[in-house]
Amino acid sequence: MRAEGVDAVLLSVGPDLPWLTGFTAMAQERLTMLVLPREGAPTLVVPSFETERVVDREKLLTLSPWGETDDPVELVADALGGAATGRLAIGDHTWSRFLVALQRRLASGSWTDAGSVLGPLRAAKDDAEIDALARAGAGVDVVATELQNGDIPLIGRSETEVAADLRARILDNGHTRVNFCIVASGPNSSSPHHDTGDRVIQAGEPVLFDFGGTTAEPVGQPGYCSDTTRMVFTGDPPEEFTEAYEALAAAQEAGYQAAQVGTPAEEVDRAARDVLTSAGLGAYFLHRLGHGIGVEGHEDPYLVGGNAEPLEAGNAFSIEPGFYIQGRWGARIEDIVVATADGPRRLINSSRRLAIVEA
Ligand code: ZN
Ligand code: ZN
Ligand code: ZN
Repeated sequence: MRAEGVDAVLLSVGPDLPWLTGFTAMAQERLTMLVLPREGAPTLVVPSFETERVVDREKLLTLSPWGETDDPVELVADALGGAATGRLAIGDHTWSRFLVALQRRLASGSWTDAGSVLGPLRAAKDDAEIDALARAGAGVDVVATELQNGDIPLIGRSETEVAADLRARILDNGHTRVNFCIVASGPNSSSPHHDTGDRVIQAGEPVLFDFGGTTAEPVGQPGYCSDTTRMVFTGDPPEEFTEAYEALAAAQEAGYQAAQVGTPAEEVDRAARDVLTSAGLGAYFLHRLGHGIGVEGHEDPYLVGGNAEPLEAGNAFSIEPGFYIQGRWGARIEDIVVATADGPRRLINSSRRLAIVEA
């Protein structure tokens, strides 16, 4: 906060608050807000009937409960004290109705986003966080392997039916929540964020699976996210697809190898992109190489052109090159990788080969 010139951080809904305190604010019209001044003790302004949910953190937090007829914005102002006229950093996910009310009440404060303070802290994972991400990855690895082994029937079933199977299996493997589950069959695979729908999967086509969830953790500890993409072909793939897939796998490997501590994030993107460009597929790689991952599915650091920030030990991120030929087909391979002093380490370890299934 000192480095960013911030006098107080204000956190409400979103992942920053549980990451710091183990307590998750309900996403609703009643304001919950952690007031964290640079100097002095933090206060949690919280609906009084929710105080039992606050995990025991008396040594760290003073509670400021409010009743249904109280004004919580006033309690935030009280908790800020002298910081109320300073630079206030508000959580990125805070509802605008609260921000607007706070800006009206604290008219002499100046405002910035708390991501500048929390983003770099959250991006450098400690060992316990890396363990949680590894458990998350191992859970979706099980599901990906079942898919690749043909344990989940595909041909003749709709994307939605297959996604329901995947969701159940993700929950059976260490997750408390499924965050997304893309099943994109045939020509739908050329839409990177395809909306899984009722198209029936045919024989002789690629199917893209991109899924992830949040790990189940004890009360008071935030869950960590998984995210992986694997490709299946329902039958023998044509040579054109196989060749493109080989280039994609080589690009993914190049990105992985480039993900060294100290390497600028955009160079990792470039390392993978260059391989696809050499294979004539550069124009079909429509998005950045990857995103950070932790308590949130997408967070710092982003592996994208223009981000010259060097990777730090403990950064965890996806490496997910793809090619998308509109109306025809597409493919992506996605692993979660952590940068360590000993080099990059994959937290997703299911096979990256194109799986051929006949059923
Ligand atoms: Zn995505
Ligand atoms: Zn993904
Ligand atoms: Zn991803």
